[in-house]
Amino acid sequence: MKRLNIEKQLRLALARNEFTLHYQPQVEVTSGAIAGAEALLRWTNTELGSVSPAEFIPVAEETNLIVPIGEWVLRTACAQTKAWRDEGVPVPRVAVNVSVQQFAQSGFPSLVARILEETGLDPGALEIEITESVLMKDGDMATATLQELKALGVQLAIDDFGTGYSSLAYLKNFPIDRLKIDRAFVFALNTDMNDRAIASAVISLAENMNLSVTAEGVENEDQLSFLKSRHCDEAQGYYLSRPLPVDEMAGFIRRRREEQ
Ligand code: C2E
Ligand code: MG
Ligand code: MG
Repeated sequence: MKRLNIEKQLRLALARNEFTLHYQPQVEVTSGAIAGAEALLRWTNTELGSVSPAEFIPVAEETNLIVPIGEWVLRTACAQTKAWRDEGVPVPRVAVNVSVQQFAQSGFPSLVARILEETGLDPGALEIEITESVLMKDGDMATATLQELKALGVQLAIDDFGTGYSSLAYLKNFPIDRLKIDRAFVFALNTDMNDRAIASAVISLAENMNLSVTAEGVENEDQLSFLKSRHCDEAQGYYLSRPLPVDEMAGFIRRRREEQ
């Protein structure tokens, strides 16, 4: 019943303007400087209240509603980042999550090109986060789409790296820029030797393949110093900042800049 209700409300949500984006800072591990921000979708519905993405994104994906919703996310995140830059809030990069259903749309790269043109955002300032499942679905299609996106100048990141059940071969076949270490491996970094080994291996893999690497879900100083000792490039997590509403994000960046 709850799922059906989510679906019913989700169909109306775009027209009713019920979505917002929050932005979570991504920080350079060595300098503490802001490297970018990940756009994270938030939904508040009159009947259901605020619903977690973990609950409604799967429904949006199953119903293909993620296609129009994801287009709204892309356009909003690009427009916001351009607006910040124009206001003198230097956001180096914005990362947007893209689901397999969006990525598999034949016009996806043209949609991205159109949105970049409409909003005037520098293509190099947009990073698209995909999961391993996107690459596994149809390798040839994925290669062509990634190449078209790369040709636009957009950055490409693999989200939740290490949690899918895919081959590592795609790392050499696809034009990827960044790996994001899933927070499952970061969580027990201080105590679990296996997680330390996995995180260290992913960081080395990225370094040796000339990819950037971001650790997700960093919640304390110990995790951050471990990542620093292994030369992880960037970190994201509650210890650095929670995902922030638009106005708080601008304030966060201004403060950070003054501190630097
Ligand atoms: P994700 O892309 O891996 O995003 C990171 C999630 O980790 C976010 O949850 C964020 O709030 C949470 N997080 C950040 N730092 C910490 C931390 O230190 N500790 C813990 N425990 N969690 C942390 P959120 O916002 O609930 O999003 C969940 C997932 O929903 C995302 O995972 C992403 O897969 C999906 N999602 C969110 N927005 C979008 C969107 O616009 N489009 C699509 N397709 N998926 C989205
Ligand atoms: Mg993500
Ligand atoms: Mg993730």
